[in-house]
Amino acid sequence: MSSNALFYLTSNDMPLVSHADGIYIWDTTGRRYIDACSGAITCNIGHNHPTVKRAMVEQLDKVAFSYRTQFESQVALDLAARLVDLTDGELDKVFFVGSGSEAVESAIKLAVQYFVAKGQPERCKFVSLRPSYHGSTIGALGLTGYEPLEAPYRSITLGSVKVPSPDLYRYQEASAEEHIASVLEQTESAILAAGPETIAAVALEPVGGASTGGRMVTRAYMEGVRALCDRYGCLLIMDEVLSGMGRTGAWFAYQHFGVVPDIIALAKGLGSGYYPIAAMMARQELVDEVSRSGGFMHGHTYAGNPLACATGLAVIDVMDSERLVSNAAEQGTYLRQQLDQLAQKYDCIGNVRGVGLLQGVELVQDKARKQPFPASFNAFDKLTALAKARGLLIYPRRSLNGLEGDHVLITPPLTVTASDIDDIIALLDDSLAAFEQASLELEVC
Ligand code: PMP
Repeated sequence: MSSNALFYLTSNDMPLVSHADGIYIWDTTGRRYIDACSGAITCNIGHNHPTVKRAMVEQLDKVAFSYRTQFESQVALDLAARLVDLTDGELDKVFFVGSGSEAVESAIKLAVQYFVAKGQPERCKFVSLRPSYHGSTIGALGLTGYEPLEAPYRSITLGSVKVPSPDLYRYQEASAEEHIASVLEQTESAILAAGPETIAAVALEPVGGASTGGRMVTRAYMEGVRALCDRYGCLLIMDEVLSGMGRTGAWFAYQHFGVVPDIIALAKGLGSGYYPIAAMMARQELVDEVSRSGGFMHGHTYAGNPLACATGLAVIDVMDSERLVSNAAEQGTYLRQQLDQLAQKYDCIGNVRGVGLLQGVELVQDKARKQPFPASFNAFDKLTALAKARGLLIYPRRSLNGLEGDHVLITPPLTVTASDIDDIIALLDDSLAAFEQASLELEVC
């Protein structure tokens, strides 16, 4: 019998997980780690929350699963209403699914079906950013601008028109404003070259997560993209799988920019790791148009099942009662100050960026020239391993194309306190000292 029949592309020396509580997670040897990345930026309310466990058990005692074409469930209705309220009614329809990729996939299909229903079937192309990450299913992967993930599948993905993502760290123009203007011009040129009448939607992450390590766009950029969508009659999809549900100090990251999308994709923090639940939210008009044409031709078996929705409702209850969105804003500011101080101390930190408790740290070999470490140095892996050896979990990502540096995300649960952040920073400081030592040896070689 094989000792490890799991088919994952990860290292062989992974600890076995034992249990978790709050911001901490333990392995079976008794070693404790601070979960400073909420797993995969998922456990927003922290581990082992009694309110959510209780709500899940209560729901299990009633009914775990009922199928959405046979029964309506009160928890699904309630969760949908809560989500709409959180957008202040700006997005008024909710479609539940089980993962971020499914939410993005649903957004793609709703956009396409909307234009088919409107008699514009030629609108079937998507514009998305490079770099970006939108998920691993074939449709979502087509939007994804991340070479190592998408390249092997190009023959079977739909692909998309890729345009540059704003980069407020490495831009070449004289000012950030000029850079944004240039990125918007390139976006418009790409839309015109592809044929504006063939574009269904522009899809983007308001704040990059795994893709760009916390790169945040500006209000002018968002307004510019919205204006382009309106000018050329296509939709604006925002992928809030990672940035949504309070992570950035607002319920949804789009709320920082005052620009309302037509569709958003949500996941991760919605179930907070307790149960897979994700959602696509859309403007009523889109759903009405599709309904008139016979209904949305899409759905998954587990979509909106009572256990998933009871979990999502309990998560939102916890977020409300513990004021976690404002805590994310407050502690995010503190975390950022501390990371900025580390950036002054360590030459290997080129840039700190992000908002709320979604903070990214880009690693560089030469700070003055913003030069990334060579790919062979595996900077992302090295720092993450050094941190893990010290009992700190951070989220790593290899450079997307060699032009940017590797980065790590510091994204603790939204329950984090200032003293937790002090602990995280102390361990990170120690890890960076060891990392910098290793990088000096690289220079000698
Ligand atoms: N979009 C974004 C922005 C993401 O960060 C992710 C997951 N990292 C996804 C989509 C895909 O979500 P899932 O892994 O739940 O399918």
